[in-house]
Amino acid sequence: MAQIIDGKAISAAIKDECKERTTAYLAEGKEICLSVIQVGNDPASSVYVGNKKKACAYVGIKSLAYELPEETTQEELLSLIGELNGRKDVNGILVQLPLPKHIDENAVIQAIDPKKDVDGFHPQSVGALCIGQPGFVSCTPAGVIQLLKRSNVEIAGKHCVIVGRSNIVGKPMALLMLRENATVCVTHSKTQNLKEICKQADILIVAMGKPKFIDASYIKEGAVVIDVGIHRNAENKLCGDVDFDSASQIASAITPVPGGVGPMTIAMLMKNCVDSILLQ
Ligand code: NDP
Repeated sequence: MAQIIDGKAISAAIKDECKERTTAYLAEGKEICLSVIQVGNDPASSVYVGNKKKACAYVGIKSLAYELPEETTQEELLSLIGELNGRKDVNGILVQLPLPKHIDENAVIQAIDPKKDVDGFHPQSVGALCIGQPGFVSCTPAGVIQLLKRSNVEIAGKHCVIVGRSNIVGKPMALLMLRENATVCVTHSKTQNLKEICKQADILIVAMGKPKFIDASYIKEGAVVIDVGIHRNAENKLCGDVDFDSASQIASAITPVPGGVGPMTIAMLMKNCVDSILLQ
């Protein structure tokens, strides 16, 4: 049976480290402030935004909530972002995605000042990651690196296969694993022989958005398996992209869903907010 990589415990440790740092900053008279913008009232987004506010309160980060109606225009949203870009008391700006269809997400992401881009989605942040310069890193893949490091998984020299190439998970994940000196292979929906490629991985990171797709037959004996996927089944139970029951019989270490990658995303958002002070 595989070692369970405990994302709850690791994320709690990271939030506590952030709390220590914000306490020290507060003692110097520096308060960190995150603005969270939500457009419309998608129930899943409201849960995510609520969790972010709670984490801010715990860590000692001031949060400003902008809950805008569904019919907000792109111009109105861009104008709010412009105002927040200009405010010295705002360190981070986060726009909860997805946005209503009439708003161009790319235009919104690009409007955020890269120095306040705590989600790490701005092209300048992605470019900086690509060439090894300082900048914000997308929270979920940054969380995966912390899970591996804090579970003492050696990354350098290992063969890492990533399933999925999205802009927010797969691609930045590949860049981060490369930065950690892994040998990286990125797969996607057009990949041929996915199973054979996955079976070569020492570290298999799955972010494909297909419930329980990756079972033991895709995994090399002793591999480390990180499951980024989150799905809710008909009985309202959470599961990942990996079939945990079979995969945990063959992997040496594995993240569960829930309690694996999920809690890391908010912990890394908190870390990005605290780090924003160093970039500004
Ligand atoms: P996307 O849908 O944006 O990307 C999915 C990727 O998987 C695409 O690159 C796609 O390939 C690839 N893919 C789909 N089917 C296959 C297949 N059969 N074989 C190989 N590759 C395939 O998803 P995200 O990256 O945004 O998210 C992935 C999962 O992670 C989701 O379940 C999401 O809910 C979860 N997630 C969890 C987070 C967390 O905090 N834990 C945060 C973000 C996401 P192609 O490019 O060719 O279409």
